[in-house]
Amino acid sequence: MKKFNIFSCCLLALTFMATALTPQPPKDKASKRVEDLLAKMTLEEKVGQMAQVTLDVITQGESEYVSDEPLKLDDKLVKKALIDYKVGSILNTANNRARTPEKWHEVIGQLQQVATKETRLKIPIVYGIDAIHGVTYTAGATFFPQEVGQGATWNRELVKKGAEITAYETRASSIPWNFSPVLDLGRDPRYPRMWETFSEDVYLTTEMGKQMIKGYEGQNNEVGNPVRVASCLKHFLGYSVPGSGKDRTPAYIPEMELRERHIPAFKAAVEAGAHSVMINSGVINGIPVHANRDILIKLLREELGFEGVIVTDWQDIDNLFTRDRIAKTPKEAVKLAINAGIDMSMIPYNFKFCDYLVELVNEGEVSMDRVDDAVRRILTMKEKLGLFETPVTNYKDYPKFGSEEFEKAAFATASEAVTLLKNTDNILPLKKGAKILVTGPNANSMRSLNGGWSYSWQGEKVEEFAAKYNTILEAVQNATGKENVVYEAGVSYNEQGKYWEEKDINIDAVIKAASSVDYIVLCVGENSYTEKPGDLHDLNLSDNQLSLAKVLAKTGKPVILVLNEGRPRLISKIEQEMAAVVQLYLPGNFGGDAFAGVLFGDINPSGKLPYTYPMYANTLVTYDHKPSEEQAKMAGMYDYESDFAIQYPFGFGLSYTTFEYSDLTVSTKNLDPEESVTITLNVKNTGNREGKEVVQLFISDLYASVTPDVKRLRGFEKISLNAGESKKVSFTVKAQELAFVAKDLRWTVEEGEYAIQVGKLKETFNITKDKAYNTVDRIF
Ligand code: BGC
Repeated sequence: MKKFNIFSCCLLALTFMATALTPQPPKDKASKRVEDLLAKMTLEEKVGQMAQVTLDVITQGESEYVSDEPLKLDDKLVKKALIDYKVGSILNTANNRARTPEKWHEVIGQLQQVATKETRLKIPIVYGIDAIHGVTYTAGATFFPQEVGQGATWNRELVKKGAEITAYETRASSIPWNFSPVLDLGRDPRYPRMWETFSEDVYLTTEMGKQMIKGYEGQNNEVGNPVRVASCLKHFLGYSVPGSGKDRTPAYIPEMELRERHIPAFKAAVEAGAHSVMINSGVINGIPVHANRDILIKLLREELGFEGVIVTDWQDIDNLFTRDRIAKTPKEAVKLAINAGIDMSMIPYNFKFCDYLVELVNEGEVSMDRVDDAVRRILTMKEKLGLFETPVTNYKDYPKFGSEEFEKAAFATASEAVTLLKNTDNILPLKKGAKILVTGPNANSMRSLNGGWSYSWQGEKVEEFAAKYNTILEAVQNATGKENVVYEAGVSYNEQGKYWEEKDINIDAVIKAASSVDYIVLCVGENSYTEKPGDLHDLNLSDNQLSLAKVLAKTGKPVILVLNEGRPRLISKIEQEMAAVVQLYLPGNFGGDAFAGVLFGDINPSGKLPYTYPMYANTLVTYDHKPSEEQAKMAGMYDYESDFAIQYPFGFGLSYTTFEYSDLTVSTKNLDPEESVTITLNVKNTGNREGKEVVQLFISDLYASVTPDVKRLRGFEKISLNAGESKKVSFTVKAQELAFVAKDLRWTVEEGEYAIQVGKLKETFNITKDKAYNTVDRIF
């Protein structure tokens, strides 16, 4: 008895300590159904809701990593997961392979049958998937450009439309939860996930992120509507800027920089009502983010007010022990992560998380309040998704899946992404019927057009699933007639090897083929990769591809360089010899057609770079750099050749028509910190064909107490103009939107002069007083 008393006192004290560390969950916001369920749940049932395993774990097959084909659930393993361990969420596909909507319906239907009929409380599971440019793991789904290509369209409507279609097709695959969008900033081309980001810029990323969330979740986040899905913002926070440029290596980010650049897109997305957030798999300032309570609770919950589900990234609780060594045991890792604010663990291969968490609660190391808080949020998301009423949607109710209507939308997005970077003497568009050599490792590959997260994680199965779509070669042949096209690869990727391995180098054959043509279309770049396997030692385009370009330039035939790449690989060694340069990014299944449209002028290119294209490996800068990155401009005495040198600037892209900007006016020359300024100009299409133009508004704070960025994008509009047509464009910008994060971490505007730049037009205005807009609790 005494023993019991001491034990229960200790338990009480420990529970109290753990409770004191936990912010109060939003009980008032949960429904009666959720509260009733919570009241009935055992600890094991609660912990099960916080667990997520990957599909291979519960399928027939030799191990948790491999499933039999044809794919079948293993009844015993399903029972172990859903009934014994009461697991509440499953993710991913099996054998890393796309499935048909029918198969998804069969598998998820069976799982929901068990969850909602055979478990004690009949709570449906929530299935999660990466549907990041279309439904990655569904055969026949509509594939859009990867996020970087969507960013390059600078077209908000297209991004929203693409997300709506993806949501519809995700639900057609019986899945209600999408691990997208990525709101990390693509500020370092060495980073292998740059193509998963919209851009290097805070504003462009924020704008596109909001559109994608509305597309996935609906205008009012009505995710119970069975054509909508819950979105998942990732990877919170600061994932894309590791010091080494390699995935999941440490980042050191001062709080000022975190607040100035990395938080805003997430903040806007939380305000846009996103239902879940996935955590950065890496380490910031020495602390793995999965164990960083300051980031998860203080920042995400308390400051940003996020109320949805916080899910880990793949195996990242274990990583606190196995990789990052801040936990001495796997159990301690669970304690650190859950106490830091994690709601759901993407475990994903076993059930130990459940055992450890039950023990930790029983030992008073994790409070029941913390567990209740997590489960309340998870059940609320399930309820909002309508899963209690409709645990599984049926592909038969989705007649538009993979339809022509959807494919047209993907083609439109791919077309508006294409970015014309160089066009000497207006060599493009070509006349149909001209003799063309199509060459290079990316010329006849659907895999490289799609990139990673396409039918499999690394994209290596694309050819199997996307045979019906056109590669660049096929699209060019379709557009101009096979008889006018010669094909010789010259260099091929080794499809069996690492993504960067090349083979079949036959440059002589290409030179020979070039002798009979008028133009050479040289398609270079990268093969598909995703995450860590996409780490890179050298940002230069590969030696073989550079050699091919050099040799072809020597033939004297004009070379049109086509870039099909996830990040800007350096081309400065060959660029000057290229007659034209076209950037496709990773345009998806309609990238070949979109390119052919641009090549022959059926499409007038309107994409603009969403990042700065670097010239040299040691000169990686973003457009929003500090003035000291441009010392050559100030020096006078010396020409600092190693200074700021870029291949093409952020926001750059040519058109087949010309636009003239005029009559820039500002509504006020003196602006109070509470006021707005309206900036108006006239844009005229002065060429002889219709075209789309992205009008970009840059504003520079000329002098500030923190060295100001040379300029910042503060607005953009994509407009369409017929030949000879003019349009007025105006931007209204609040003084508050020009604030920067000051030394005291507050968003601040300072009095003084601000310079506007739209195209070549310039104006200025003044802010009349200093003002800080918020109060701040330091995160770190
Ligand atoms: C990636 C995430 C992804 C998750 C689930 C991780 O490896 O970092 O972006 O959502 O896997 O597939």
